Amino acid sequence: MLSVEEARDRILATVRPTEAEAVGLEQAAGRVPVSFEVLAAVDVPPFANSAMDGFALRAADAPGELRLIGEVAAGSRLLPRVTQGEAVRIATGAPLPPGADTVVAIEDAGEMGEGRVRVPAVAAGTHVRPAGGDTRAGDRVALPAEPLAPASIAVLASLGLGEVSVRRRPVVAILSSGDELAAPGTSLEPGQIHDANSAALAAAVVEGGGEPWLLPRAPDDPAVIERVVAQGAADADLLLASGGMSVGRHDHVRGVIERLGALDFWRIRVQPGKPLAFGSVAGRPVIGLPGNPVSALVTFELFGRPLLRAMLGLPGDGRLHLSACLEEHLRKDPARPAYLRVTVRRGPDGWLARGAGGQGSAQLRGLAAANALLIVPEGEPAGEAGRTYDALVTGSLA
Ligand code: AMP
Ligand code: MG
Repeated sequence: MLSVEEARDRILATVRPTEAEAVGLEQAAGRVPVSFEVLAAVDVPPFANSAMDGFALRAADAPGELRLIGEVAAGSRLLPRVTQGEAVRIATGAPLPPGADTVVAIEDAGEMGEGRVRVPAVAAGTHVRPAGGDTRAGDRVALPAEPLAPASIAVLASLGLGEVSVRRRPVVAILSSGDELAAPGTSLEPGQIHDANSAALAAAVVEGGGEPWLLPRAPDDPAVIERVVAQGAADADLLLASGGMSVGRHDHVRGVIERLGALDFWRIRVQPGKPLAFGSVAGRPVIGLPGNPVSALVTFELFGRPLLRAMLGLPGDGRLHLSACLEEHLRKDPARPAYLRVTVRRGPDGWLARGAGGQGSAQLRGLAAANALLIVPEGEPAGEAGRTYDALVTGSLA
């Protein structure tokens, strides 16, 4: 059986990034730029302007009493020329008038009436934002290799760009299978449970930057599963199937992947999530996730999320990894590394972790309460109180 790292490497080796599309900046939040470096075509700001409401003047004339010869507002085009002994009333963001080299703020100046203003001594250039002071035309502006955040969008806007070239969001087809599954919002017949995976995986796909496409829920019927898997693989960038992946008499998904395409592996050393399959159908990657909802979401985190990010041109999992000291004993399977659901919080000497609830792979509330997965290596029978482990932070540490 493959390790988590080996399985992830095999999955990532197959990645093709999605193609580029242009989006308007107003629609660019969370989208991933094709290039994380932009060539500036203009100076930002485009002209020298005032950082304060005040008076524009020549520093050589201060201190002194100056004659007010006019006013410039933000957006003004007509700029009076400032000569010796003169000042111009100026607003924040207004162009510095020719001749002036300095701005004295209103609160530092004394208006004398009759169009005169008294100003203190001031260093040349005070409260002036020079042209190109933020960015110069020709600069290569680096953006973080992350989905676009508001500040990066502001940078692009200030450079005058109306659109940005981003990676198309990967379409992720989601198939939940099992005779026992009923749609949330409907009442249960005997033996049924509500399908938790479809909606949860759709949310995880959105969080990972993809576009979920929910396929019709399938019973444990190989013919139906075959039809839905073929449909999903034909029109999606990635197919996520959950349930029916194991060795039971009613587990058909793995067989369908083998029949329609190729199976690379179908078990890995991890807890939760041993029955994890990976293969391809019609040239599209297919991840077979375990049916248990905790296992499905944890394995999506470990494999689906990095795969989606790679399709978007993003490195890694985009998660914070830290070391946390476990405060209690948590049992696990000695044969596999465990990703225990924990809450991590800041302690006096570093990060502390506690179990977030039941660690069973069908016990969803512990996963919902957790803000991290604590990684206890294989070979160890338990997470030991007082020992420090790597934690993959999936939620908020606030
Ligand atoms: P399976 O992988 O099909 O053997 O399913 C393992 C366990 O997960 C069983 O208890 C299933 O009832 C449960 N399960 C499978 N799919 C889902 C789902 N979509 N939502 C909730 N539980 C599920
Ligand atoms: Mg099943």
